[in-house]
Amino acid sequence: MSNAIKVGLACCASLAAVLVVNAFRGAPAASPEVVMVSKGIDVDAGSVAERLAESLRFATVSHRDEAEVERAPFVAMRAWAEQSYPLLHDPALVERHDVGEGQLFILRGSEPLEDPVLLLAHVDVVPAEAASRDAWTYDPFGGVIADGYVWGRGSLDDKASAISIYEAMEALLRAGIQPRRTLIAAIGEDEEVRGLRGAARLADLLLTLDVRAFMVLDEGMALLDGAFEGVQSEVGLIGVTERGYATLELLAEAEGGHSSMPPERSAVFSLSRALARLEEHPMDAHIDGVVGELLDRLRFEQPPLQRLVTSNPWLFGGLITRQMESAPGSNAMLRTTFAPTIVRAGEVENSLPTQARAWVNARIHPSDTVSGVLAHVRALVADLGVTVSSLEGASEPPLASPASGRAWELLCRSMSVVAPDCVQAPSLVVGATDARHYARLSDHVYRFVPMRLKPEDLPRIHGVDERISVENLAELVRFYLELALSA
Ligand SMILES: [Zn+2]
Repeated sequence: MSNAIKVGLACCASLAAVLVVNAFRGAPAASPEVVMVSKGIDVDAGSVAERLAESLRFATVSHRDEAEVERAPFVAMRAWAEQSYPLLHDPALVERHDVGEGQLFILRGSEPLEDPVLLLAHVDVVPAEAASRDAWTYDPFGGVIADGYVWGRGSLDDKASAISIYEAMEALLRAGIQPRRTLIAAIGEDEEVRGLRGAARLADLLLTLDVRAFMVLDEGMALLDGAFEGVQSEVGLIGVTERGYATLELLAEAEGGHSSMPPERSAVFSLSRALARLEEHPMDAHIDGVVGELLDRLRFEQPPLQRLVTSNPWLFGGLITRQMESAPGSNAMLRTTFAPTIVRAGEVENSLPTQARAWVNARIHPSDTVSGVLAHVRALVADLGVTVSSLEGASEPPLASPASGRAWELLCRSMSVVAPDCVQAPSLVVGATDARHYARLSDHVYRFVPMRLKPEDLPRIHGVDERISVENLAELVRFYLELALSA
């Protein structure tokens, strides 16, 4: 055997050894068994479901334009909550602040010097489009309980969470149990339209009250079953950060005139070229950071070959990226994405418009910034004479909270009580949540509600036949009770 072959074989053997060693490195320790601390408090799934169903009958649809908000259903729902959760609304027991489109409930803990736990949820919903009404099994605002589920708009996003927080706090008050840390529930009424009149103002108020939270917990991630190829166990994903947000305006200008003699450069053609370039030149993918941490945790659940690939991103990064790019959900975890949502130009068929305008909704990956994204788009379309600006209200991706430490462990512990066998991992939330408004209040901002979702359930959120199982709903209440009592 020649020396060159010997050296080659030795290299192959050591490469194989490195790949295999990496595949077994850092296996997570088995999670210790957890004891339920809220055992003494009964959670009656049937009556919780009944109350969630009642809350779904208020068509609390939010609108970006304040003038278009129909406030009556919100007012009626607040009055209903006051009747349904009398102790939570007793000023002698709970301090309440009604602020703009939101409410704050403060239940004082026995240790006033300890930082409070801040629980977020929202009661506004997206509309149930008229065109899809017939596709619903039950009336989206009927609040129907059938086949073991509560059906209707908001049953997942996010009244299940709001009602479960109300239920948990009412149950504590009824049992006369005072949690150690103060519990604050911040309930928004405009999350679906960016939370500027609700969450942002509630967060401002908390700042003026000098609140520094031990932990902020919002919606955003869940218990997912079957979402990851090769992973058999249920995965409890905890959102430790989310993507930023910007809407870019692309504007092409040209001379107008009669459409029988079009000039060389028309506004619509220029804008179309600009949009096509955006599609053809996506921003860079990143498999490090939070997404890297997620992959690193999931690899221990994967079959051997897949595990070998995931464990060695230094060699198989391209393959992992291509796999993730193939589905919109995982692609959104990898990079900043662009979605053209509004395009406008022209008024009559035979005259050339002088302006063509597009709004492109950008969701900004934690590895990018608003200014970096603007620079990327400007450079792409510079030679087309298309100008690019960012509409008001852009937000940078927030700093990621740590996937370790007391707040993280408390969250994992409470999750384990309702889902003892699930795998727990940090994740990036690809959409926007109210949590970003509260980043000023804590270094520990997480996004998780133990809703059990299968891939086929995901389109129900903001879609047709939104529903939650009665059994799962009781688990949500139990989870918040555990969190409140072990914090
Ligand atoms: Zn929501």
